[in-house]
Amino acid sequence: MDNRQIRQIYFDHAATTPVAPEVMDAMLPFFTEFYGNPSSIHRAGRRAGVALQAARRAIAARLNAKAAEILFTGCGTESDNAALRGIALARRAITGADVIITSAVEHKAVLATAEDLRDRYGFALITLPVDAEALVDPQAVAAALGDGRHVAVVSIMLANNEVGAIQPLAAIGAACRALGVPFHTDAVQAAGKLPLDVEELNVDALSAAAHKFYGPKGAGILYLRGGTPFWPTLTGGSHEGGRRAGTENVPLIAGMAKALDLAETLRAAENGRLRQLRDRLIDGVLATVDGARLTGPRTQRLDNHASFVVEGVAAEGVLIALDLAGIAASSGSACSSGAQHPSHVLAAMGIPASQSSGALRFSLGRSNSAEDVDYLLAQLPMIVGRMGERVSG
Ligand code: PLP
Repeated sequence: MDNRQIRQIYFDHAATTPVAPEVMDAMLPFFTEFYGNPSSIHRAGRRAGVALQAARRAIAARLNAKAAEILFTGCGTESDNAALRGIALARRAITGADVIITSAVEHKAVLATAEDLRDRYGFALITLPVDAEALVDPQAVAAALGDGRHVAVVSIMLANNEVGAIQPLAAIGAACRALGVPFHTDAVQAAGKLPLDVEELNVDALSAAAHKFYGPKGAGILYLRGGTPFWPTLTGGSHEGGRRAGTENVPLIAGMAKALDLAETLRAAENGRLRQLRDRLIDGVLATVDGARLTGPRTQRLDNHASFVVEGVAAEGVLIALDLAGIAASSGSACSSGAQHPSHVLAAMGIPASQSSGALRFSLGRSNSAEDVDYLLAQLPMIVGRMGERVSG
């Protein structure tokens, strides 16, 4: 078949997004023209340093934070690692607190880090269960906190990557704040789609990554509230106020600041548009695909996110067939693409492995239109029908 004739539709914006043209323009001069090291004393260095601090101020303003509370990292995973390791180890050294509280539906960047802190550093780990929609109960967090004295850090994500669920963060944060326990949130999926006001969210630390909001891969944000105990993971020079050593990636950071500004400017209108497309997609799939069931909440979910399990099919086969039809989608978790490990998120929601092997995620973005959704709705029932026949035949 001639590839050029196939329509190409990208429904995997939760995995990553293209770089917006405005972001590309903002980055380019810092590769070739203003390439100085932002720590250097000379004019070239100062130019880069000015851009670095401007990006820091712009990002801080979008988070309702102070510029000094923003650290630049290399990705969302690094921000999650730095937050959990940095806060847990520092707070234990100061107070003796040695319990980490997180949820069963966190991204592996948080879960594997918390498990590493348990297994190699001797922390105790409380992994809170979720309900059938992947939501954490703030009262369960409060109960796990007790009087808070033994808790080093709490980490609960703002929005879930696999099923789009938006957690009741402000309530969880309020419980932590009342006891003086540091609260981190993984906002990697939420950034650019939900408000990131750190005062309203009641968070002490927040992670984000540029490539999820039309910025470049290789740039991440860690917000760290002033006064939060923190030991750096990367040691070396005194970059980032001594909290993350290594020469800052000025082009990518300038692009990330531009990307966040753009996403925040477009957010209200784009969320409204995507919500309509999402609902068209969800209603259409539930009406036309045999055995399909929505995963995650119907309304308390990201506006661009639709996820399902389809009884009796293997996601991998469906994704390959969709790809042949020109549609890029995902099963929602990198692990399940190998078909060996059922998704830990779906398992925590009580979905058996026999169903979670048919997990599909469609995450919409700026390039998508109603025609794209309709094309998917024309293809998917046929593809699933063929797969189902193969399984039963
Ligand atoms: N946290 C969440 C919720 C994510 O969805 C992802 C990426 O998919 C990450 C963390 C890791 O981000 P990165 O790939 O930038 O390291």
